[in-house]
Amino acid sequence: MDYLLKGAKQKLISTLREKGISDENVIAAFEKVDRHKFIESFMWDKAYLDIALKIKYDQTISQPFTVAFQTQLLQIQKGDKVLEIGTGSGFQAAILSAMGAKVYTIERQEGLYNETLKLLEEIDHKIFAFFGDGFEGIPRYAPYDKIIVTCGAPNIPLSLINQLKINGLMVIPVGENSQKMLRITKTGEKEYTEEEFGDFIFVPMLKDTKTIH
Ligand code: SAH
Repeated sequence: MDYLLKGAKQKLISTLREKGISDENVIAAFEKVDRHKFIESFMWDKAYLDIALKIKYDQTISQPFTVAFQTQLLQIQKGDKVLEIGTGSGFQAAILSAMGAKVYTIERQEGLYNETLKLLEEIDHKIFAFFGDGFEGIPRYAPYDKIIVTCGAPNIPLSLINQLKINGLMVIPVGENSQKMLRITKTGEKEYTEEEFGDFIFVPMLKDTKTIH
């Protein structure tokens, strides 16, 4: 890797620590995964800034701090089965996979799904990527130890709670214009508790799939 990118990556990692990321497994994943590979090369000078960036199909790669924060809230253990809603660039999925999780991820934009699938085949063969509507989850591989939603949800989808193991965690930003970061702990077949972790801004979680190439 280019020494300028290497330096920028180290600086990002210090920023993440300063902002409160203390899970060393999360930090190690940010060391391993190259964020620049998930964006177009004309933006590589911004790859390791702590900002969200535009990717194709009018979508975004989340701010690194947001990725690290959501991942830290998930308390990932090696071998965890994790469902991600909103594959986007594939970066969040790669971070989870680098931590030893078995990742299932779903994206509603067909063109973006196809591109990211190709990229993930080059970078990380252990991620299972699906095209579909995240409101439905992926029941075929349920139940999951953890679920992460990376788009702003209008509410907590019951279908996703149903696909979570008992004692499983779901991290989900909920709200219309800005979102509250919630961590759901499933405490029983039909019960869960909620914790709140501040305000964030995500692209909206939208129903159904969309095909533009
Ligand atoms: N995790 C991504 C963040 C992408 S932004 C990353 O690391 O880059 C959120 C993504 O969620 C967008 O790609 C958007 O198309 C997708 N999305 C929105 N609603 C969805 C839904 N109902 N099901 C699946 N994906 C959805």
